[in-house]
Amino acid sequence: MSEHGKRRILLVEDEPSLVLTLSDRLLSEGYEVATAGDGESGFNKAIEEPFDLIVLDVMLPRKSGLDVCRDLRQHGLQTPILMLTAKGQVVDKVVGLKLGADDYLTKPFDMMELMARIESLLRRARNTIGPAAGSYVFGDIRADFRRAEVLRAGQEVELSALELKLLQHFIEHRGEVLSRDHLLDEVWGYDATPFTRTVDVHVASLRQKLETKPSRPEFILTVHGQGYKFVG
Ligand code: CA
Repeated sequence: MSEHGKRRILLVEDEPSLVLTLSDRLLSEGYEVATAGDGESGFNKAIEEPFDLIVLDVMLPRKSGLDVCRDLRQHGLQTPILMLTAKGQVVDKVVGLKLGADDYLTKPFDMMELMARIESLLRRARNTIGPAAGSYVFGDIRADFRRAEVLRAGQEVELSALELKLLQHFIEHRGEVLSRDHLLDEVWGYDATPFTRTVDVHVASLRQKLETKPSRPEFILTVHGQGYKFVG
């Protein structure tokens, strides 16, 4: 929802005439609209700004709509996605829904039909968890970085600003081995400190708050002699 209380829609579509028609229509229906003309910029916009819904074309330059959809879901974004597929691309529909799209519409479509689908998706989203842009779920943890809020099994977990930043960095680099020096640079922001132990202390604290068994962590793993790795 925008500051004016309008719902925000991201339109990822590369056909200029369709972008124009759709934007006009959405604006006249009272939505706020942002557009992206290729998959890569669409993905970036979707993770950088909060949207209530994403209309995503499948055939896009630079990154296909299917890849965008999959990557957004892997990133933890739960914003409803309405896919636009070309006529006859039955496979895309099935794959799209599997990759986490909420609905699809085949081109060419009726504008009324699109508006109805959008409204229905927005209604559904409101009934479940609401727009959860910027959140990431692992285990029974839900981290919402826009709201600086972490829930564990629905209960709020108190994290310091630094712990939150550390967690966000881990999530953004999940699967990568991160050295203590790297973490100090990226999370603490000073290039050289004699106290790489600082990292260990904060990691231990995060584990206490997020892991079921902090001594045998499932998510924030120690990679001996190298650093840490987040898996989740
Ligand atoms: Ca296209």
